[in-house]
Amino acid sequence: MFRLFKKTPMWRRHPLRDSYDVVIIGGGVHGLSTAYYLGKLGVKNVAVVDRGYLGGGASARTTAIIRANYLTPEGIPFFRHSLGLYEKLAQDLNFNLMFSQMGRLDLGHTESAMFGLHMRTEFNKALGVNSRLIGADEVKKLVPIIDLRKGKQFPILGAMYHPPGGVIRHDAVVWGLGSGADRLGAELHPHTNVTAIERDGSSAWTVRTDKGDIRCKTVVNATAGWCSTIARMVELDLPIVTYPLEACVTEPLKPLLHRTISSANLHVYAYQTDRGEVVIGGAVNPYPGYSVRSTLPALQTLTSHLLEMLPCLREARILRQWAGLCDMTPDYAPLMGEVDGMPGFILNCGWGTWGFKAAPAAGESVATLIASGSRPDLIKHFGLERFADGRLVNERAAAPAAAIQ
Ligand SMILES: Cc1cc2nc3c(=O)[nH]c(=O)nc-3n(C[C@H](O)[C@H](O)[C@H](O)COP(=O)(O)OP(=O)(O)OC[C@H]3O[C@@H](n4cnc5c(N)ncnc54)[C@H](O)[C@@H]3O)c2cc1C
Repeated sequence: MFRLFKKTPMWRRHPLRDSYDVVIIGGGVHGLSTAYYLGKLGVKNVAVVDRGYLGGGASARTTAIIRANYLTPEGIPFFRHSLGLYEKLAQDLNFNLMFSQMGRLDLGHTESAMFGLHMRTEFNKALGVNSRLIGADEVKKLVPIIDLRKGKQFPILGAMYHPPGGVIRHDAVVWGLGSGADRLGAELHPHTNVTAIERDGSSAWTVRTDKGDIRCKTVVNATAGWCSTIARMVELDLPIVTYPLEACVTEPLKPLLHRTISSANLHVYAYQTDRGEVVIGGAVNPYPGYSVRSTLPALQTLTSHLLEMLPCLREARILRQWAGLCDMTPDYAPLMGEVDGMPGFILNCGWGTWGFKAAPAAGESVATLIASGSRPDLIKHFGLERFADGRLVNERAAAPAAAIQ
């Protein structure tokens, strides 16, 4: 036997110490991004703990669509910044993230849908995001396989076209951020389950894990679908309901779909990977829960709704289907920042169905908050206190197939 490649670990192993400055719970894209940007800011005494393997939560199950064509004055600048960071992240990390900016079309099937898309496009333009409204003819040029026949229940009248939107390779992002964080001094501890969190006096925390207790000044909750269970360890109730979200892929096909397409009315989106598989996703399941088993009703809904737009795929076979957990807030916006009365307990969660694209901006902002002690303007609207203050964001362009119409 001989080895073709030299085995170089992506990150080092460390014994778990009993004290760090910052403990990040959750080694998904958000926990690792926070660790990476903390390292860039010179904060080195950092541990990321995850009860499974790194990137094995929602970050392993994402369809990894990246875009900035949001709706609200709070959401658009934040996701625009995140897209900008993603555009240079591969170079920053010196790691190929396979970011394909193939362009994204949000399709309109009714007059009211087109009105909603028009409004969103204008907000995008006003806030510096490259989006424009296009008619059905241009949709056909960009997606030749789309079915524009008249008389259908969901005819395609036009679309919001967002050229910089695209798709990234999710595991490459996790590995790149993990190895970047390691290089900058963070310790990554997979298979380390947090079982309790206790406050020591006014400014320190003890994080209890199955590998030992850790004292720290700052704890970051970056656990997505489980963030409310972690918050309950410090007697904090988050306005989160966890839902399963499902997706599937077809067998590999010849290149035929060169953009990502999404329909809010049909609750479905799709794109084709470099391997030729068509990835199909949609809205969360209609019931909350923690099951990550895929279901037949979700598969039937996703495929039948996609065939309404792309009937040429009717013979394609489904290769895989999977589910992940989404921590949904009532206003479709994340929870980032410190918590009143709990100094050093920081939230980076509430990422619902839209969090992968947000990871660089969220990691950078949360790291800046930890390093400087004050919440950056970019995330000032996303704190938990907005629910007490009645200042909800209502980011209806957040879900992959959000219905703003
Ligand atoms: C099917 C699907 C499709 C999606 N598509 C998109 C998309 O196209 N674009 C997009 O932007 N977003 C998408 N999302 C959402 C996106 O994947 C998530 O928002 C994002 O991955 C969340 O990352 P995270 O790091 O916060 O959480 P995760 O990746 O879930 O990481 C959290 C980690 O916390 C760990 N953890 C939990 N409890 C404990 C504990 N007690 N102790 C230690 N560790 C613990 C878990 O093991 C897990 O690894 C999709 C999600 C799903 C499920």
